[in-house]
Amino acid sequence: MNWLTVPLFLLVVACGAPGRAQSWSEAHTPAPGTTQVFGFYTAGCIQGARALPTEGPGYEAIRLSRNRNWGHPTTIDYVRQLADKVRRAGQTHLYIRDIGQPRGGPMSTGHSSHQNGLDVDISYERSARPALPPAQREQVAVRSLLRADQRALDDTVFSDQHVTLLRLAAEPKNVDRIFVNRFTKKRLCESVTGNRGWIARIVPWSGHDSYFHVRLRCPPGQPQCLAQAEIGGDDGCGDALDLWFRAPPSSSLSIPSGPRTENRSRLPLACDRVLSAP
Ligand SMILES: [Zn+2]
Repeated sequence: MNWLTVPLFLLVVACGAPGRAQSWSEAHTPAPGTTQVFGFYTAGCIQGARALPTEGPGYEAIRLSRNRNWGHPTTIDYVRQLADKVRRAGQTHLYIRDIGQPRGGPMSTGHSSHQNGLDVDISYERSARPALPPAQREQVAVRSLLRADQRALDDTVFSDQHVTLLRLAAEPKNVDRIFVNRFTKKRLCESVTGNRGWIARIVPWSGHDSYFHVRLRCPPGQPQCLAQAEIGGDDGCGDALDLWFRAPPSSSLSIPSGPRTENRSRLPLACDRVLSAP
């Protein structure tokens, strides 16, 4: 090693091999290989992720500079099929927010889940908007379903279209659960008639007033994907919902609304390989 190669050697040691991502948010491409999900929604990663095309029939992906439109092919297919159903129901296009990073994993901002390619956030906005080029979708103004005081749904915004949207989103068999604001769940409990089976999969969570979060089940053939415990057998409109209104909203996240042991934080060892793959 001469005087020129020593600093170069030290640089490579310090920075890792050229082109290898050092953090999950620096991985700009999916890990190569067949699609495999490792771990849980809050502590996982994915190999062979697929990107949601930036737009398609019935949807536009927004905030594309974040590079979080990657997920399991099941998730990509789910979004495209939902968008098409919503379009055929006569509604305007959906804005698709974050799915996951190209290799999944923890994000530097914004989410504790969305790590294994099976979570997706979808905006509630239902007013007809013109199609926009991707660069103009970085700052899309969308409305909250809540009043400004956060104490009830805003009935100048919330409509039957939202009920239809949530029903279409919750009906597919591979939907594990959908996180919504407690007031949205309450309204569904009070107003939906006929088949109410899908309401069980709609669960309250803090926030989620301008978008809902769809969580898909571990797809078949993914033995290293960790499933979340099943939600209760009823429609979730009784005690489980009441808890969200008895406690102060500021402490709503500490309510034992589900299996709290699910908040796993340790990534599977296989994720080291996913992150360091060329
Ligand atoms: Zn989410």
